[in-house]
Amino acid sequence: QPRVFSGVQPTGNLHLGNYLGAVSRWVPLQDQMPTIFCVVDSHAITAGFPDRAELVNATREVTAAYLAAGIDPAKSIIFNQSQVREHTELAWIFNCVARMGWLNRMTQFKEKAGKNKENASVGLFAYPNLMAADILAYRATHVPVGDDQKQHLELTRDIAAKFNNDFADRIKELGVGVPNPTPSPELPEELYFPLTEPMIAGPATRIMSLRDGTKKMSKSDASDLSRINLKDDADTIAKKIRKAKTDPDALPSETDGLEGRPEADNLVGIYAALSGKTKQDILGEYGGQQFSVFKPALSDLAVDKLAPMTDEMRRLTAEPGEIDAILKTGAEKASAIAEPVLKDVRKIIGFLDVR
Ligand code: ATP
Ligand code: MG
Repeated sequence: QPRVFSGVQPTGNLHLGNYLGAVSRWVPLQDQMPTIFCVVDSHAITAGFPDRAELVNATREVTAAYLAAGIDPAKSIIFNQSQVREHTELAWIFNCVARMGWLNRMTQFKEKAGKNKENASVGLFAYPNLMAADILAYRATHVPVGDDQKQHLELTRDIAAKFNNDFADRIKELGVGVPNPTPSPELPEELYFPLTEPMIAGPATRIMSLRDGTKKMSKSDASDLSRINLKDDADTIAKKIRKAKTDPDALPSETDGLEGRPEADNLVGIYAALSGKTKQDILGEYGGQQFSVFKPALSDLAVDKLAPMTDEMRRLTAEPGEIDAILKTGAEKASAIAEPVLKDVRKIIGFLDVR
């Protein structure tokens, strides 16, 4: 049973990387299989508790961005994570499945915790287990995300594999498994949780910071000049692209010429992703040109693509009733899928059911 699950954290401003690497790629999937898109607010408290109103607003804004980008509540389940308790319940069980050694290898924790690891929250450390629970509470098979989430998705597969193996006899005895679609000696014949396929593809799997071509564009980057926010107006977008770090050379006419030029590579990649063309197409057009020519063209393209979405996001967030109603219906539909999964899991574990 194929099913898509993905999400964005309501921390700070949604940016072009979130849009090109994730949300825009979700839209066509809605016509291919069942899709669930979550605003992962429980993850938004791992790096410190935001202001109450800020978290509420950011949750609505991420929802507005989904809708403005073309996620259709008639086709997809859209909800915020904290409203479906099965996520945190399953995460606890996964805390007891995953090994310390696995989590110690997670590079995002090292980056986000910085130098002072002793003072990072336990939640930030355990975050990948909650992400695995987000996906597996729906037994989702496909997860479209940016390249930075690759390691977390591998962990999700490791957790699913260990659960399936450790409880193989119980899964069989209770008759709750499904036949493994790709039999292998490492896994039992019947699985409870699927081994999720990451969907990391296209020209924009990793959009880089406009200030530093070796760092990914992030909501949590302290510098607002490092990213193009979906809510930026035309002047702000033009200013940020004008100020974007580049080298002094003209653009090459072949993609090989972008090697060792991370900032140039990033801007060409953004142009390609926004226009639906390849980097080579763009270099065919702009090869030999200076950034003084390329940057204004990129600004115009970005403004053209983003302005209609920005307007729609403004309209939706001005009167949040519509958003809240969509999230409420979504949470009900999501619960209807996750509740029976957790019922099975409690049985598999052996929790005494007295209710
Ligand atoms: P934070 O800094 O708070 O972690 P973020 O920008 O990394 O914010 P997330 O909510 O963690 O955003 O990620 C949402 C989705 O956007 C994920 O699928 C992630 O892989 C994708 N994504 C994030 N940054 C980029 C980027 N720079 N390029 C492409 N995809 C990205
Ligand atoms: Mg992130």
